[in-house]
Amino acid sequence: MNFVTAGCLAGEDAASIAANLKYHVDYKPLFYPLKFESKQAYYAAAQSVRDHLVKRWNETFVHFQKQHPKHIHYLSMEFLQGRALTNAIGNMGLTDSYAQALKKLGHDLEKVAIQEPDAALGNGGLGRLASCFLDSLATLNYPAWGYGLRYKYGLFRQQITNEGQQEWPESWLEAGNPWEIPRFDVWYPIKFFGRVISSKSGKKKWVGGEDIRAVAYDLPIPGYKTKNTISLRLWSTTVAAEDFDLVSFNAGEHDKAGRAIYSAERICNILYPGDATPEGKLLRLKQQYTLCSASIQDMIARFKERSGSGFSWSKFSSKVAIQMNDTHPTLCVPELMRILVDIEGLAWEEAWKITQATVAYTNHTVLPEALEKWPLDLMQKLLPRHIEIIHRIDEEFIKTLITSGIDKGEIEKKILSMRVFENVALPESVKSSVPHQHGKDDDEFNPAPELVRMANLCVIAGHKVNGVAAIHSEIVKDEVFNDFYKLWPEKFQNKTNGVTPRRWMRFCNPELSKVITKYLGSEEWVAKTDQLARLKDMVDNKELIKDWAAAKRACKSKLAAYIKEQTGLVISPDSLFDTQASGFIVKRIHEYKRQLLNILGCIYRYKKMKEMSPKERKAKYVNRVTLFGGKAFATYWNAKRIVKLITDVGNTVNKDPDIGDLMKVIIVPDYNVSVAEILIPGSELSEQISTAGMEASGTSNMKFSMNGAVLIGTLDGANVEIREEVGEDNFFLFGAFAHEVANLRKERAEGKFEPDPRFIEAMDFIKSGAFGGYDYTPLLSTLEGNSGFGQGDYFLVGKDFPDYIECQEKVDEAYRDKERWTKMSIMNVAGSPKFSSDRTIHEYANEIWGIKPLPVP
Ligand SMILES: *Cc1c(COP(=O)(O)O)cnc(C)c1O
Repeated sequence: MNFVTAGCLAGEDAASIAANLKYHVDYKPLFYPLKFESKQAYYAAAQSVRDHLVKRWNETFVHFQKQHPKHIHYLSMEFLQGRALTNAIGNMGLTDSYAQALKKLGHDLEKVAIQEPDAALGNGGLGRLASCFLDSLATLNYPAWGYGLRYKYGLFRQQITNEGQQEWPESWLEAGNPWEIPRFDVWYPIKFFGRVISSKSGKKKWVGGEDIRAVAYDLPIPGYKTKNTISLRLWSTTVAAEDFDLVSFNAGEHDKAGRAIYSAERICNILYPGDATPEGKLLRLKQQYTLCSASIQDMIARFKERSGSGFSWSKFSSKVAIQMNDTHPTLCVPELMRILVDIEGLAWEEAWKITQATVAYTNHTVLPEALEKWPLDLMQKLLPRHIEIIHRIDEEFIKTLITSGIDKGEIEKKILSMRVFENVALPESVKSSVPHQHGKDDDEFNPAPELVRMANLCVIAGHKVNGVAAIHSEIVKDEVFNDFYKLWPEKFQNKTNGVTPRRWMRFCNPELSKVITKYLGSEEWVAKTDQLARLKDMVDNKELIKDWAAAKRACKSKLAAYIKEQTGLVISPDSLFDTQASGFIVKRIHEYKRQLLNILGCIYRYKKMKEMSPKERKAKYVNRVTLFGGKAFATYWNAKRIVKLITDVGNTVNKDPDIGDLMKVIIVPDYNVSVAEILIPGSELSEQISTAGMEASGTSNMKFSMNGAVLIGTLDGANVEIREEVGEDNFFLFGAFAHEVANLRKERAEGKFEPDPRFIEAMDFIKSGAFGGYDYTPLLSTLEGNSGFGQGDYFLVGKDFPDYIECQEKVDEAYRDKERWTKMSIMNVAGSPKFSSDRTIHEYANEIWGIKPLPVP
């Protein structure tokens, strides 16, 4: 083997890749040199693949810098990337070469790939959406950057014991991250605290305070079957070397000497640190500002470099677009204004025009109580100049409202609900135009807190505001931001979410992909999902049905083997695999996903089975495995009680000799992207059972449907559109509709309803101790009487229960007819083209960002 050439970037054939792998093992050792096991093979493979990535990534960067197209910059506090190896070689078309090369060296690609820890820099849907978008942006050759933070610890690792959930720190960077490129040449200063001084000319300057640095770490993101490879740039925080306090250190005051460093570094310790304390809130604000400030400085630096002698601020918004993924990056707005006005010397009006034309905002929640608000005093302390800027934005907006023709009797109410600040006195300049002012709470002993409403700032500053599914975008217009919609109807859009068919079909489900490719005649569908619709015409083809069922069964066997390995439980691949898996239960508002409805359904079913003779049981029910995946926020007790209840039910049911394979209830531990990649292809029924009107979109519903699982769900989020696409016969619908929810809640809060006897039966069964002695009263009381938000059964679990269990009976009936079920599965995949993130990204590109594809030749 020639190590000189092997060390250089190898060719793309198996022999050169094997030589290159050997080079990385021998010359860039990360481990004890005499061992060459799967772990070592993974790190060698990652370094070798990275060489290929870097080549494409450099070419893409150079091409974009020269051509100077308009770029989109996607800002997100979360990116849930998952593993990189399989995805990278798959997108670059190098899977076979790497598999053969590893085989030559005595390794198996699949075993090597699972050595990689998940990059879990997110909680769930919102972060995974950002990662799917990057895959589509690269694949469709759009000039794009992702921006986020490089958290040292990912989401915690979840262990399930008899006590329910236990959390352990997840140290994903412990063995280094071979996919990242530390860019010590790319860093920006970030300031906190300090004060604002004015020069004689009125120019403002922010001085003093704490100065840190944000350093870039780049992750190359390869497109599928294209050279284009874009960047996810993650910021890490530190201080300049000269800020290390050498004098104190030598005087033995070691803690004091390291204080500045620790203060900077802890910004990137974890995602969403607890914010119950003022210190916690401050840390979160520091995170948000770091992301916004570093990213904007970076965009401006590159814009200037690309523009060269043609530089002009008037061209900025035709070259730079910024998308704010939810309100976490709202500080982009005052930060861009500050740089344009204070540093670049632009007039306010011009700067505002540029800012508005540049930023757009994606809303992810319909729950008013979930919209971010920050205490004004805290923001004032941390970002004094930004608060001045926000005051001016607020003032100008109020003036706009006053002259917008809103009825005089209405104007005060509108101003108070739409302006950026809450409970803050109106600016002097507008007081005379507003008849009565009840803006400020005048209870001097218990004043209402002064707050900054981040979502209002986003809507006021952004040129576009979008929801993430059709029904959600309607709710955004009609309820959440109705006043803004009436003022600026042209700002509001819908962009139904999507997921990448590369990771979520082609790579995680090779079994089904092979069948699809066989019947469609080529693999084109992986990039052009529209082709999948052709499966509709083949749904009666007996051969296809047979191949399809066999592929599904192979995925189920894989999942069963994984569950055995993780939990020791043995499940039969002949059972119906019924799954509810989704992100994080963070607070009360996240109970809308209603894992509780699912487990109550299991409990009722179990009770009925126990009351029947073995013959009756077998006649009424099909064998079913109910699987759960998801984590509960460590200090959110009700969520942890739900996990405990599922554990208890599983411990009872799974061991019951009367029941056997008729019913199993299992939590698949430590749900994350890699677990989802096994769980989703192996599932046949997907529980998408949120309270109608509460799930903005959901994306796991799309992943399940495109892997041939049939949905049982409410008319909520993207379920509505999935049902339209796959056909109502191929979707199990139940539950109250979104427009009925408000009335139903009222009725139930006032006690004007008859509880369903089956619901009472399930509740009483838990209380009887059938699943152990744990006290479930605090959890069950949220479903009865007045509790939680002060309204019993806020999430309508009791209300939808009877409809849900009746719908589950229809599922049993349908599953008995294997051919019918397989056709439903095929129709789900055939109806999934719309849910490719490629479609979503094309829409954003054309209707919000105004960017064009630019393939690297
Ligand atoms: C897709 C995905 C989610 C989102 O699930 P929803 O049910 O849509 O909320 C959460 N976590 C992981 C790991 C995912 O892959």
